[in-house]
Amino acid sequence: MIIAIDGPAASGKGTLGRRLAAHFGLGHLDTGALYRATGLRVLRAGGDPSDPADAVTAAEAVRPEDAADPALRTDEVAQAASKVAAIPAVRAALLDFQRRFAATGPGAVLDGRDIGTVVCPDADAKLFVTASVEARATRRFRELRERGEDAIYDAVLRDMEQRDARDSGRTVAPLTPAEDAFVLDTSHLNADQAFEAALSFVSGRSGRP
Ligand code: C5P
Repeated sequence: MIIAIDGPAASGKGTLGRRLAAHFGLGHLDTGALYRATGLRVLRAGGDPSDPADAVTAAEAVRPEDAADPALRTDEVAQAASKVAAIPAVRAALLDFQRRFAATGPGAVLDGRDIGTVVCPDADAKLFVTASVEARATRRFRELRERGEDAIYDAVLRDMEQRDARDSGRTVAPLTPAEDAFVLDTSHLNADQAFEAALSFVSGRSGRP
């Protein structure tokens, strides 16, 4: 059983992915972490995330254990991730790992930007999780403040708009719902309500309660 979850930053897709994976006893892969790990490797090597040679070298060096690095969660790394993600050869280098993960064990939940359209086009259930940019910036702002970071709402909103524009406007695997995706707008839903709506869709599709 494969569940594909796509959507923009801070839409709630990561939380949803983890909960659906726990519910159905599936593995969970946050594919954004692979792009972040690539961006972080480029930054640490003193390279340019928009340079294809720097970015491909980094993507080929990414290891599963990179996903645990707390440095992946900064906004600087998020911006670097969306720059490397616009390079076709980077996406190609990370594709195999994602498809192998999906094919392992009893099945998996993958979340990202192009899971339903490119990585797992035959997924059993596809969700496109979205929310207004203001709702997503507010969530992100609160998360940063809770972590004790000195965030400014307007800067968080601007960063999110920039990343949305880059992810939706790129020519390779742009952020867009698959034709057969269930679009879930979480602007006015809490995590439990979003989970219930997603579960009801996935159960209906898969026949599994
Ligand atoms: O989901 P997250 O915010 O961690 O993703 C970081 C960046 O990685 C995104 O802004 C996007 O550019 C890129 N990404 C992607 N395709 C995926 C997952 C993430 O292009 N499947």
